[in-house]
Amino acid sequence: LTQKEREIIENSIRDIKDFPKEGIVFKDITTLLNNKEAYGVLMNHLHNRYKDYNLDYIAGIDARGFIFGAALAQMLGLGFVPIRKKGKLPYTTISEKYVLEYGVDEIEVHIDAFGEKKGAKVLVIDDLIATGGTANAAATLVKQTGAECVECCFIIGLAFLDGIKKLEEKTKVYSLIEV
Ligand code: AMP
Repeated sequence: LTQKEREIIENSIRDIKDFPKEGIVFKDITTLLNNKEAYGVLMNHLHNRYKDYNLDYIAGIDARGFIFGAALAQMLGLGFVPIRKKGKLPYTTISEKYVLEYGVDEIEVHIDAFGEKKGAKVLVIDDLIATGGTANAAATLVKQTGAECVECCFIIGLAFLDGIKKLEEKTKVYSLIEV
C-alpha cells in the first residue's frame, strides 16, 4: 500500500462521536464503501495480500465483515462463510460466548461451513478490532469446526486497546489502519 493509497482509505472513513453511546468514537465505513476509489484501493490491496495464502474460505463477522469478506472471497475465487450473531443461522451451529463492556454476546457458525475435510485454511475478516472479544470468539469457532484460522484481518485496529495484542496470542493478525 502506498502512502497515497493509505490516505485515500483513511480519509474515506468517517468518525462519529458519541455513537452508539457517549464516549465512543464510531468508525463509519459506509463512507468508504460508497467511495468507489477508496473501496477499490482497499479491495485490490486485500486481494494482493491474500492471493498467495492458499486459503480455502473467507469468514466474515456479522455484519460489516460480510461486506469486505464476501467481496474478497469473490475476488480470490473462494467460498464465503458468515459468522453470525446468535439466532440467525438456520442449520446446526456451534457457538461461542464473549464478554462485552456490559454483559455477554454470542456468535455462531454452521457446523459444516468449512467443508467435510478437516484443516481448511480460513481467513477471518471484520471492519474493526476494538477489545478483540468478537474476533477471538470467531477464531475459536473456526478452530472448533476443525478448520485452521490462518489470520484475522481488519480494516481498522484501535491501538489504544489491547485487542490486537491479545488476539496475536491465538492467531496472526493484520490490521490495515491503526488508530
Ligand atoms: P471488539 O469485540 O471489542 O473487538 O469489537 C469489535 C466489533 O464491534 C466489530 O464487529 C466492530 O464492527 C464493532 N465496533 C467496536 N467498536 C467500534 C467502533 N469504535 N467503531 C465501529 N465499530 C466498532
